[in-house]
Amino acid sequence: MSDAPAVGELTPPDRTLMGPGPSDVHPRVLRAMSTPLVGHLDPSFIEIMNEVQELMRYTFRTDNEWTIPVSGTGSAAMEAAIGNVVEPGDTMLVPTNGYFGGRMASMAERAGGEVVEVDAPWGEPLAVADVETAVREHEPDVFGFVHAETSTGVRQPAVPELTEVAHEHGAYVIADCVTSLGGVELRVDEWDVDVAYAGPQKCLSCPPGASPLTLNDRAMEKVLSREEQARSWYLDISLLEGYWGEERAYHHTAPITNVYAMREALRLVAEEGIEDRWQRHRDVAGALKAGVEAMGLEMNAPDEYWLPSLNAVRVPDGVDDGAVISSLLDEYDLEIAGGLGALSGDVWRIGCMGYSARPKNVSYLLAALGDVLTSRDADVDVDAGLAAMSDAFGA
Ligand SMILES: *Cc1c(COP(=O)(O)O)cnc(C)c1O
Repeated sequence: MSDAPAVGELTPPDRTLMGPGPSDVHPRVLRAMSTPLVGHLDPSFIEIMNEVQELMRYTFRTDNEWTIPVSGTGSAAMEAAIGNVVEPGDTMLVPTNGYFGGRMASMAERAGGEVVEVDAPWGEPLAVADVETAVREHEPDVFGFVHAETSTGVRQPAVPELTEVAHEHGAYVIADCVTSLGGVELRVDEWDVDVAYAGPQKCLSCPPGASPLTLNDRAMEKVLSREEQARSWYLDISLLEGYWGEERAYHHTAPITNVYAMREALRLVAEEGIEDRWQRHRDVAGALKAGVEAMGLEMNAPDEYWLPSLNAVRVPDGVDDGAVISSLLDEYDLEIAGGLGALSGDVWRIGCMGYSARPKNVSYLLAALGDVLTSRDADVDVDAGLAAMSDAFGA
């Protein structure tokens, strides 16, 4: 037997998280995570489950009974949605305008579905007319789209029009709301979205580990009348129903601590008020946007589909995007991210989510980014950027 390994002494640094997620976690959520555990079937935990479900409905703007936190990160809720709704032989229509549409396609294939695509360039939303053409041509059983594309900083507008077109042709609609829930206007019932999933570590400012999912009765009927059972036992909604539904019977041990965290994060949403919270994201990210633009930088997305929770800023010519990201991390303990896929090297992705969507974070970010760019001789006017930010904050 070998000796016990040396115990490392690294304490994780204290970062400011302004990337594509995780975002800064609210101190109340961190405190909730040190609450002693109870059993996952403890009567007190059952009450907490009810409360989480109710708060989650409020945040999604839905009355869907089937609203639960899925154990795992956003991708777990995504796979629960796609892996249960898509049956072998079903056709799923997915978008090509960002990284996460591609992940939808992979999951649909693994569920035994056939994937067809509706195209739009990276950095642009889907056009309703293109979705209409695609549903006419392919008659998909399921249509998936990304409401807030974290890879491109694009918000999909015209959601009610998209769901209407899909429903006219008999398709169920699955919306990826990972980077919109709790930060950007989202109305599941009013917009007639059948299935929506999200993540905890974006606009809810909760650590990764339990992820919101909601299905309306229509979608739930499809799931419960599947001929073949879902391929994942762990994410089989018909089995999860036993735990999160009426019965409250064991399926797997809930991540108790993450459920505490989610509850506290959702209580913060309810205290703030969901519409005020959307407005805060618009205001704070609006000041960030005003600041970078006045500095002389350019946003990747035009105003009509700008995504407040994820600001894709174009890297100026001659500047090494990765070196700037490293300097911000090393010298300022500040995290932002680079571009993915078709936008790799072209943009920085600056998150403005949940507890990170605060004036304090934005002024720190603009000052730090300004310093780093100036030290690299980039042509930016930092003072103009900071002044525009202050104006936007009404200072
Ligand atoms: C982050 C993200 C996901 C995946 O969530 P994980 O928590 O990383 O598993 C899915 N879709 C979008 C749009 C995201 O931003």
